[in-house]
Amino acid sequence: MFSAKRSITVKIVTGYVIVAILAGLAVWYVYNQVIAYSEIAQSNTENNQQLILVSEISTNLNESENTSRRLIQSGEEKELKLYNSQIEGIKSKLQSLEQSYENIYLENETDSINKLLDKKTENLKELVALRDSDRNTNYYSKALRELRNIDASFKDYSYENRFRNLKPYQKDVLVKWLEYSKEDNAERITTERLDSVVKSVKRVLTDLEFANRQFQNEVIQKENELLNNDLILNQQLQSLLSSLELKERENTVERAEVFQNMLDKTSNIIILGGCIILLIILYFIINIIGDVTRSQRYRVQLEEAKDFAESLLASREQFMAAITHDLRSPLTTVMGYTDLIQKTELNEKQKHYLNQIKKSSEFILRLVNDLLDLSKLEAGKMLIENLSFNPKKLIHDTVNNIIPAEKNKDVDIVIEISEDTNVQIQSDPFRIKQILANLISNAWKFTEKGEIVISAALKNQSGENHILEIRVKDSGIGISKEMQENIFEEFSQENSSIEKRFGGSGLGLAITKRLSQLLDGETKLESVQGEGSEFTILIPVVKLSETREDSEREQEDEITPETIDHDATGLKALIIDDEPGQLSLTVEVAKSMGFEIETAENGKSGLEKLTTDDYDIVLTDIQMPILDGFKLIESIRRSEDLKDLPVIALSGRTDIEKAVYTKAGFNNKLLKPYKPEELKQNIAELLHLEYEKKEESVEIDNERLKSDNYDLTDIYEFSGRDEDAMQTIIQAFIEGANQSLNELKAAYEVKDEDKLGKLAHRMLPMLRQMKANEVVVILMKLESREQVSQPEFDHFVVKINRLMASLDPNITV
Ligand code: ADP
Repeated sequence: MFSAKRSITVKIVTGYVIVAILAGLAVWYVYNQVIAYSEIAQSNTENNQQLILVSEISTNLNESENTSRRLIQSGEEKELKLYNSQIEGIKSKLQSLEQSYENIYLENETDSINKLLDKKTENLKELVALRDSDRNTNYYSKALRELRNIDASFKDYSYENRFRNLKPYQKDVLVKWLEYSKEDNAERITTERLDSVVKSVKRVLTDLEFANRQFQNEVIQKENELLNNDLILNQQLQSLLSSLELKERENTVERAEVFQNMLDKTSNIIILGGCIILLIILYFIINIIGDVTRSQRYRVQLEEAKDFAESLLASREQFMAAITHDLRSPLTTVMGYTDLIQKTELNEKQKHYLNQIKKSSEFILRLVNDLLDLSKLEAGKMLIENLSFNPKKLIHDTVNNIIPAEKNKDVDIVIEISEDTNVQIQSDPFRIKQILANLISNAWKFTEKGEIVISAALKNQSGENHILEIRVKDSGIGISKEMQENIFEEFSQENSSIEKRFGGSGLGLAITKRLSQLLDGETKLESVQGEGSEFTILIPVVKLSETREDSEREQEDEITPETIDHDATGLKALIIDDEPGQLSLTVEVAKSMGFEIETAENGKSGLEKLTTDDYDIVLTDIQMPILDGFKLIESIRRSEDLKDLPVIALSGRTDIEKAVYTKAGFNNKLLKPYKPEELKQNIAELLHLEYEKKEESVEIDNERLKSDNYDLTDIYEFSGRDEDAMQTIIQAFIEGANQSLNELKAAYEVKDEDKLGKLAHRMLPMLRQMKANEVVVILMKLESREQVSQPEFDHFVVKINRLMASLDPNITV
């Protein structure tokens, strides 16, 4: 069970650890993936910036293209500056683009673009220069046009009029040139001559125009060439840029693919991890459910085993109860008759046989009692009471009870009781007496000569808490060292030969030890083999007062046990019982002690009597109609006037512990059927009655008191061996039994089990006392609510009627 629980815990812990590790790994993996995603996202942003750069470069290039065109057209300085700044801008953007890549090297591409740009600038400059020179050389054609005009109206050499459209420096050149030629040829110039000059000028100018045309063509050609170059350059630039753009786009697609792959991989891993965790959880759940089911099964088995053990214990208890009940009664009868026979005239052999019978029956009785005690102790059913008592008196009483009157050996009994113990203390006097009785009887048993010293002292602990220390020391056979270790175990005896010689069951010390443990005390043993033993018991008690008890009756040294007769003359007893036979039995016993008697048939009328009259003692049955014994004692203990009144319970119930009675408020309890002497002794103890030695009467005419159906010896004893008293008891019994029988028949008719049980319980003690075994068997069945068949019940009715008839000659069956 324990290991199953532990294995469940281990499994749960292992499960949690594995799941935690997997969760940790998953978190670690997802964290890494997130970092990778953010890197990709970052590079995407960079990628976008690079694409923006590329498109800006392309736009700037177009702008520079426009500027270059304007520059070619106008040749203006500011356009040139603009162009240069645009080219510089393109170059710096190219550099930024190149630097923005970490892994891609664009050095070659940017270099070639830079070179192309430089070349383009050079081309442009050349083109602008050509345009400039073209502009400067245009005057030749204009001069020629003017000369043509001259040719038409050459009569007038007014240069102002003729060259009015020329620029001053052109006009100057032309006029000077014409004047020189005019001076040189002034005398020779004729009209023809002039014509030829004009013709020459014309030719020169034509040549000039031709040359100019050629130059123009050259310029156009050069321009075309440059424009072509520029076109090629632009194309190259564009293709470079678009290849860059393409590269970027490819990169983007690639990154998107990587991103998608990562995403797929992550989700796959997460799904896989989830499945693994699910499988692990499932595995552990199945395992743990298996374990729990197994442990549940073990628990059920354990509970069954426990129930079985408890039922065994209960059966053992029942068995023990049966033993005590069914064995003790006949045993006490055997012992009683043995006593009686012993008092008849016997020869030596018979005396010896009887002695053996007595010893054996005493042994069986002790064994039965011990077994019962032990089973109660083991079942935890031995209850402890907390009563006030005088330990000194208790020790004296115990010694008196244990040490036989006729000491057949040379052993001195020494009682050394400290005066401290002559006070009232609180503990369980019955258990202490039982412990003490065991120790003293052992000491007596195992000591052949010398002395037995019984000493006691009360040692203060704190406040009113004390330790009662009782020592029983003997000079007997002693106990060996080895045996001392397990002497307190059940059935442990030093050796069987000693046991045989001294008798004993081997249970006494086991009971002693358990009882002292039950009282929170301890038992110690010191012993030297061959020299003697000393048993010490230490019991915690509460000291109540310093009051010394009257010690007149105490005998401290030699014990002289006596047969006791109790004189209750002048005292009044109330006896309550609903069964007339039992009632008159108790009445007879009380009468024989000298009590004045009043009776009541149930608790209610008993209580009424108690309130109207004074009583010294109450003897009451327990199970009664109207108001039972427990309710009665409750009322008595509650009443201010009656609360200290001594009350003895007389009950046939074996299922209720004595402690229950004392707890309820009874001073003592006797089990029915009881011995008259038992009752007398109890009453005497309770009322501290004087006692005197009484010679026992001998012989009883046994045969006269016996028949096949009954034995009236006990009743005779109860009546104090008084024939009339016995007859009164018998008459009371017959009266009660008749009434009970009628009620019993009616209850059997209607199968009222409860009523049958109660009636049987009421009838049983008296019939047991009469040893009417045949009817007792049926009544016991009814008492324990067992089924009794009709023929069985009819047989019982016949038998009890026959019994009553044989007891009373007036009745005929
Ligand atoms: P028993 O019924 O046999 O006396 P106990 O449990 O009382 O059972 O004692 C167990 C054994 O212890 C005895 O059989 C005896 O051998 C030994 N023993 C007990 N008391 C004494 C003693 N006072 N002196 C010597 N032996 C003792």
